[in-house]
Amino acid sequence: MSSPGTPGGQPGPQRTTDRVPVPVEPAQAYAELAAGNRRFVSGAPRHPNQDAGHRAAVADGQHPFAVIVGCSDSRLAAEIIFDRGLGDLFVVRTAGHTAGPEVLGSVEYAVTVLGTPLVVVLGHDSCGAVQAAREVVTTGAPPVGHLGAVVDAVLPSLRRAEAEGVDDIDGIVDIHIAQTVETLLGQSPVLAAAVAQGRCAVVGVSYRLAAGVVRPVTAVPTGAATLDVPTGPGAPAPAAA
Ligand SMILES: [Zn+2]
Repeated sequence: MSSPGTPGGQPGPQRTTDRVPVPVEPAQAYAELAAGNRRFVSGAPRHPNQDAGHRAAVADGQHPFAVIVGCSDSRLAAEIIFDRGLGDLFVVRTAGHTAGPEVLGSVEYAVTVLGTPLVVVLGHDSCGAVQAAREVVTTGAPPVGHLGAVVDAVLPSLRRAEAEGVDDIDGIVDIHIAQTVETLLGQSPVLAAAVAQGRCAVVGVSYRLAAGVVRPVTAVPTGAATLDVPTGPGAPAPAAA
């Protein structure tokens, strides 16, 4: 039932059925994400692992090769911007990619139970959560309802940006991405141990909404993320941000 062909001339689904090996090493996993992002940016996505055959194949178990701790922003859908499919990415999203207990537990589940070799913190330019926190600091007006929890989680990044003399919103976003990576590692000894043992890496990346390009901001261990990734079959050259 997993045959990709449709002999007899019946129009096939738009989604392709090409199979991509599941990366097991952190650098390999990042290279797959980077290659998928390049396909997305170029307008030539392959939509791997989105067909009915693959859906059935992964029903009995999952082996995602990357955890994405991303902002909830509606323009930041992980499987789309990294051109992946079912079973590939373990996605945890909150406004401003804040890393509270449930997020930490979800990351630890993926890394320890599922054996996922890469954790990616995915932020983006013009992040509304960061802007909201900045407005609270600027105006002194208290946030409404539970938005206060989001603001409180972003405030350390704002203080750090101020200490470093960074005041443009996208520079602050980069700092917040790095801060989230540090929070994950600092608050989760389980994750830190997996990184120390070489079983996992944590990478912070920033996404540009208009261009669709993902850019590495920080990586632990250093060098886990590089733009100099292997070019996959049919992958075009990276587009400029
Ligand atoms: Zn955001």
